[in-house]
Amino acid sequence: MNTTLFSPVALHYAQDALAPVISPETIAFHYGKHLQAYINNLNAALPDSGFEGKELEEIVRTAEGGIFNNAGQVLNHTLYFTQFKPAGAESAPKGALLEAIVRAFGSFEAFKAEFQKKGAGLFGSGWVWLAADQDGKLQITQEANAGNPVRHGLKPLLTFDVWEHAYYLDYQNRRPDHLAALWQIVDWDVVAARYCK
Ligand code: MN
Repeated sequence: MNTTLFSPVALHYAQDALAPVISPETIAFHYGKHLQAYINNLNAALPDSGFEGKELEEIVRTAEGGIFNNAGQVLNHTLYFTQFKPAGAESAPKGALLEAIVRAFGSFEAFKAEFQKKGAGLFGSGWVWLAADQDGKLQITQEANAGNPVRHGLKPLLTFDVWEHAYYLDYQNRRPDHLAALWQIVDWDVVAARYCK
């Protein structure tokens, strides 16, 4: 079977560029080991599964079981690792995205507070997402394990990974502190491009 293999998305920043928000050690494990394992598992499971040759998002929308779990984690980490910029001046949403955030949450500050609260309150492993419906209306969703808003027909815009492997080396049990720090490295131009796509 001629199956296109998936590979990890390229990082467009150096492994130490996100420090101190995310250390190079965490990138080495999270990107180098955890994401690679999901990629390897997905590629190993695809042949003769009925999903070989399919787009990643379509697999995530329609698969179940091990293929869904690994494909979901590949898509989630692809969106996660490409939404960051080197630590420095904090950026903020503007234009149509900012307007949609204000419409849905009242203000950018109120959105951030709600996003952090939903990330901190997600029991166990999973992801908190900012997602848009077909009318561009925004909502925050909590997804367990490998979940992704595309499963509910929503467009994923921004995500914080709350699996312990995302923060344990740097923050141990302090998930809320990790989530609060992540705003320093969010690249809102990337999020806006996903919103307007
Ligand atoms: Mn992860």
